[in-house]
Amino acid sequence: MKIKFWGVRGSIPVPGKSTLKYGGNTPCVQLQFDDTNIILDAGTGLREFGNYLITQHNSSKQINLLISHTHWDHIQGIPFFLPFFRKEYYVKIFSSITRGNEEGFFIDAQMNPNFFPVSKEIFNAQIEFDRIMENISFYIGEIRVDTLPVNHSLGTLAYKFSFGNKSLIYMTDNEIRFNIRDNNFSEEGLYQLNENLIEFCQNADVLIHDCMYNKENLISKIGWGHSNNISVTHFSILAGVKKLVLFHYDPDFSDSAIDKLLQDALNIIKEKDSDLECIASREGMELEIVI
Ligand SMILES: [Zn+2]
Ligand SMILES: [Zn+2]
Repeated sequence: MKIKFWGVRGSIPVPGKSTLKYGGNTPCVQLQFDDTNIILDAGTGLREFGNYLITQHNSSKQINLLISHTHWDHIQGIPFFLPFFRKEYYVKIFSSITRGNEEGFFIDAQMNPNFFPVSKEIFNAQIEFDRIMENISFYIGEIRVDTLPVNHSLGTLAYKFSFGNKSLIYMTDNEIRFNIRDNNFSEEGLYQLNENLIEFCQNADVLIHDCMYNKENLISKIGWGHSNNISVTHFSILAGVKKLVLFHYDPDFSDSAIDKLLQDALNIIKEKDSDLECIASREGMELEIVI
């Protein structure tokens, strides 16, 4: 499976000279497994991905778009995704968020005339919605997908993708819980507070996880629905994750602040003498998981 990052920033896009290295677009990650195209979230990174995709004439015209939740930073790219305007594309949108029985209401809402000049009727692609629930499994092609509700706003899902004997987890906008008095993030404390998340992530080959905060605001941001580099590193070691990919950075983090996030995480891994690999995602970065 090939993984490409098109947007790695949380909350709001942040173009500018202080974000050139990691990029300023909001979440969008592409998974490609043979002919199966999966897109995780539709932040502003989706626009650039769409521009690229339409130049790939031989690529599959079927796209599976999985939305973790419908906060702005995860859907802002939708009106600017060129494949939606092309009749040869078939896009299936998976989300747990509905308004009554209205699936896909968030596209109508964001393309309401008060917020956007044209409605979604302008799209020519065939678009289908699939409402998914928490704690279910389903298949996209040969890939098994498991869902888990996480500690963020209601309906936010993490996704686990299993193929061959490998697994990748996309868990953004999630708060790993910890006891503020437990300065060393003891295994018992972390396990008790995050048991279902740890079980879900057990032995994952790759975990892409929210890293909105850092050491400095570790305490002040408790309850905001996001994690920091310290909690996510301890969590990943405990879950036996092989590779942790830091993701969804605070918009105020410069490139050097993210370098430091990563360095602090690597220091913990060294202190704990763990085999965990840790990298910081950046726009344009590609990874591969070989079966
Ligand atoms: Zn977000
Ligand atoms: Zn959110």
